[in-house]
Amino acid sequence: MTYLGRIAPTPTGDMHVGHARTFVTAYRRAVDAGGAVALRIDDLDPLRCRAELARRAIEDLSWLGVRWSNDPVYQSRRRACYVDAWRALRDAGVIYPSTVSRKEIRDAAHAPHEEDEVAEKIFPPALRPPPDTGRDLDSPAGVVWRFRVPDGDVIHYIDGRCGPQAFTAGADFGDFIVWRKDDVPAYELAVVADDIAMGITEVVRGEDLLRSTARQILIYRALSAAPPAWYHVPLVRDAVGKRLAKRCQPLSIRELRERGLTPEQVLALAEETAVSR
Ligand code: GLU
Repeated sequence: MTYLGRIAPTPTGDMHVGHARTFVTAYRRAVDAGGAVALRIDDLDPLRCRAELARRAIEDLSWLGVRWSNDPVYQSRRRACYVDAWRALRDAGVIYPSTVSRKEIRDAAHAPHEEDEVAEKIFPPALRPPPDTGRDLDSPAGVVWRFRVPDGDVIHYIDGRCGPQAFTAGADFGDFIVWRKDDVPAYELAVVADDIAMGITEVVRGEDLLRSTARQILIYRALSAAPPAWYHVPLVRDAVGKRLAKRCQPLSIRELRERGLTPEQVLALAEETAVSR
């Protein structure tokens, strides 16, 4: 099977050195395996993503020397694919409509990076509706949909860099959102539907998504699809050990480029500050 990786920036801010490191690692792994990477713009959330930032991310990636093999895929244009996945999960009886807090709704379109995990509460199983609730609905719109996790099951997988992983459903994570109340598909559903549709053979991303991978494996199982290989890379941290986030605009690639740094220098800077947990 030919290796196909993917690079999936979320256009909510300019890319920083952490993204540079992750995306260049993904690209190099593909080249080393004799394969390629596809580019996907994870602009699922219409409230937070901006077309201008997607354009800037594409420019930054080219400047870094990353080359992709496809016409960029935009999540904002792939609703039909997500509705199909929703329908398959509904028919499999693994998701249900529910009511949740506004904060949970707001967060659900985004990859749950580690600081969000700390705050995440396990959805109380007592609040699940009876089995088969929602089976008769023809559209996901208007209500939150959650994945009913198999409480107590341990999800095992091997990560290409971090080794064997194990997460217990119902303890390490609870019933997670697959569709938001405002009719936007959630990150976990969209990313799995896309990775299957695009034929991705290995997912390379930050190690703050190790736990999310366990959730995604449950979606692959429910859709009877084979999961890709996984390779989670260390995060880039600032001097006080805080994960660099786009929202506070640390060391954007653009800014470093304007200061005259070369792509090699930007990547060297990212290497210096990469910390594995
Ligand atoms: N766009 C997602 C993010 O920025 C990518 C996560 C993934 O690779 O699955 O977090």
